[in-house]
Amino acid sequence: MRRILSRCLRKLNSIKKEVANAVKILQERIDQEGVVLNNRVLKVDSFLNHQVDPWLFHAIGKEFARRFKDAGIDRIVTIEASGIALALMAALELNVPLVFARKRKSILMTDDAYSAKVYSYTKEETYDITISKRFLPSGEKVLIIDDFLASGEAAMGLAKLVESAGDEVVGIGIVIEKSFQPGRERLERVGYHVESLVRIARFEDNQCIYMEE
Ligand code: 5GP
Repeated sequence: MRRILSRCLRKLNSIKKEVANAVKILQERIDQEGVVLNNRVLKVDSFLNHQVDPWLFHAIGKEFARRFKDAGIDRIVTIEASGIALALMAALELNVPLVFARKRKSILMTDDAYSAKVYSYTKEETYDITISKRFLPSGEKVLIIDDFLASGEAAMGLAKLVESAGDEVVGIGIVIEKSFQPGRERLERVGYHVESLVRIARFEDNQCIYMEE
């Protein structure tokens, strides 16, 4: 009995270490390589939005999988382009399919599609996001994953697609949340469960100040 208990404790400690690692490494990379523009936008293109770090993404995928493992997820939905590699790692860990919303309708997309309008504050334009109906069967539990949460526009648009299909949004997993913007509040107000790996309370002199645990 004591041996089982100590094995469980060891396992728990190793899980805690792994989790702390994904979040800690992410914060370290943001601090070392991130560039804050006008105290408004964080540029992390050396490891997340342009060049991607597969080992870090693997740890992120594991962390999302750990947080949502009991949610009965059938499918992950994300948005091109930066969401894809992140969501892929989580999909592998959770052993579920992944589908990404397109920002522009491809000429190859001849099937019926679900679509929603999303306003981008970084690009200052409204665009349509679409997912082919074939890849969003109804009656599923869906996890939405994205790289950033700011105003919540992208996540709300993805949730709308998922719900148009008759699916349930069981969680929204975000890598970097800018908690001083209204995204989380907007999503929680309508009942979505949001899990963000890193939460930025504010930018100060173009540096990130994180939320206290
Ligand atoms: P929201 O739709 O919540 O306003 O913003 C989320 C989307 O905008 C993300 O998919 C991301 O592409 C982009 N975004 C918002 N804020 C930032 C930021 O500070 N840095 C980067 N790189 N992308 C951002």
